Amino acid sequence: MQDSSKTLYIVATPIGNLSDISKRAIEVLSEVDLILAEDTRHSKRLLEHIGSNVRLIALHDHNEKEKAEQLLKEMEPAKSYALISDAGTPLISDPGYHLVNLAYSYGVKVSPVPGACAAIAALSCSGIATNSFYFHGFLPATNSSREKELSLLQDNTSTLIFYEAPHRILNSIHSMFSVLGNRQVSIAREITKQYEQIVSCSLEEALDKLNNEVIPIKGEFVVIVSGNVETKSIEEAELEKILTALLEELPVKKAASVASKITGINKNQLYTKALELKQ
Ligand code: SAM
Repeated sequence: MQDSSKTLYIVATPIGNLSDISKRAIEVLSEVDLILAEDTRHSKRLLEHIGSNVRLIALHDHNEKEKAEQLLKEMEPAKSYALISDAGTPLISDPGYHLVNLAYSYGVKVSPVPGACAAIAALSCSGIATNSFYFHGFLPATNSSREKELSLLQDNTSTLIFYEAPHRILNSIHSMFSVLGNRQVSIAREITKQYEQIVSCSLEEALDKLNNEVIPIKGEFVVIVSGNVETKSIEEAELEKILTALLEELPVKKAASVASKITGINKNQLYTKALELKQ
């Protein structure tokens, strides 16, 4: 750290296994003038583990805007701050955006100290396409808002990445299945921790595994869902043939649901199409 300009380091910390902290993160967290942390009590344990005595102050969702401005205003030349969150990379579904955004207008250099990020760790082990991905973070808590948000992602061809809490995982997978269709999913639970589990299957199978506790509803989850790739490979004529045959035997809703399982196309999309064919 020989730079004489004001510097804000964005430092990634482990997401479970403390050995995942980098040498450079230890160095920076031991040498900066001040550490800004989401939860000072939580981060104190990490600092004790690495032997850092640097002063910690709280910067979280509720005080970030005012606190960020005050901290940057007071920052003296040649001083350095580090921002950390409870786990992983700050700003990724964590506080820090306002601070980094403002830092530039105060002439502060922003420098990353990269490391763990649950989304990237899960993606790299998912077995689902990694050439293009879309990080969504947390979905809303209520079924209707969640399904509305998912329907906006229906046509996205990139791999989709979500964060989820244990008390919402079942409802979220259910919403994904009903809105996105029976796509491939990878559920990464407790990454780098004692009970780490990575399961790759279809969304329908994932529901079964969660209901039967093959995937325990405990700990932290990253959900990776394949993008809308199947839709493109099915010809319109072929789709109409499948739906017409099903409509001869089944009511519209059931026909759309079975066609969705066969094609992987979204059930609501197929319901509209089935109604058209019926008329
Ligand atoms: N900034 C963090 C990062 O870089 O991954 C994410 C913070 S966000 C508030 C916390 C969420 O990340 C959890 O609810 C979970 O979805 C995911 N997560 C964090 N650690 C995880 C782990 N060890 N295993 C699985 N998911 C994890």
